[in-house]
Amino acid sequence: MSFELHRPATLEDAISLAGRLAPDTHFIAGGTDLVIQMSRRKVSPSHVIALPKLTELQGVTQTAKGYRIGALTTYRSIELYPAFRGPLECLIEAARVVGGQQVRNIATVGGNIANASPAADFVPALLCLDATLQIIGPRGTRRAPLNDFIRGPGISDLGHGEILTSAEFARLPERSGTAFLKEGRRKAMEISVVCVAASLTLDPDNTCTAVRIAVGAAAPRGFRLMEAEKVLLGKPAGRELFAEAGKLAAEAVSPISDVRASAEHRRYLTSVMVGRALAICHERILDTRR
Ligand SMILES: Cc1cc2nc3c(=O)[nH]c(=O)nc-3n(C[C@H](O)[C@H](O)[C@H](O)COP(=O)(O)OP(=O)(O)OC[C@H]3O[C@@H](n4cnc5c(N)ncnc54)[C@H](O)[C@@H]3O)c2cc1C
Repeated sequence: MSFELHRPATLEDAISLAGRLAPDTHFIAGGTDLVIQMSRRKVSPSHVIALPKLTELQGVTQTAKGYRIGALTTYRSIELYPAFRGPLECLIEAARVVGGQQVRNIATVGGNIANASPAADFVPALLCLDATLQIIGPRGTRRAPLNDFIRGPGISDLGHGEILTSAEFARLPERSGTAFLKEGRRKAMEISVVCVAASLTLDPDNTCTAVRIAVGAAAPRGFRLMEAEKVLLGKPAGRELFAEAGKLAAEAVSPISDVRASAEHRRYLTSVMVGRALAICHERILDTRR
């Protein structure tokens, strides 16, 4: 493995370096995906452009409408971000189960998205918040909905030399709850067999007024389960309705069988976990009303 490491101090320098050295370059953030891919020779760039000096991509900021998570934000920072406690619990729950402590100290949200793994844990958590991505590249800046950004295993909408700068999402209305659940073969340091994230909003009469459900590791990419979402809208929240959404979710996924689980088991887990995630959202909303 032989490559030249570049450490640009500004976004402009990073983009111009990528353009000048194209196409044989890769950006690196925490390196927890890329270094493994390089050591397995799945990718072997001659130039690696390190992003960590770009401080403007680090950390969470509140915006007029909600939140912006910089692409270089680590899972540890998400776990400790106080404003995510409560209605945005799904983010803390997803961050808390990525790898082990050492990984969470350096691995970034941007790397999880750009790497485009079907089992990326933070992607469903952001999908259930309807996140939009900000991207900067040689042709300027653009925005892209996360749900359209990942196209398949390892394939994203990022063009060469483009840098993911942040993910943004709006604050949730009153009477909202979120949840993230992950199933693996063991409790820690495990790639998801299936992961599910949900956000639910109720009116004062317990009617579902907004819902978003997303799944990971059950299809070639993490994605929103829109048919399951639709069945909830305008109806009173409750276990039976959540179970119905779970059944629709299981029909919408296209899992594979591999060393971790059979496709059939993943489909079953999707159904159960969607119902359970919605029930947790519901409980959390009722809890905040007390
Ligand atoms: C031991 C171990 C356990 C793990 N457990 C989990 C787990 O439980 N759940 C999970 O989801 N993942 C897990 N991972 C995978 C990995 O930690 C995450 O996907 C992490 O978020 C990747 O972030 P990174 O900063 O390390 O990315 P990097 O490895 O630096 O980059 C990954 C890819 O994204 C690109 N990239 C990174 N940042 C940007 C950017 N801002 N703009 C454009 N492109 C960019 C890189 O070029 C590269 O192709 C684990 C990894 C290890 C080593």
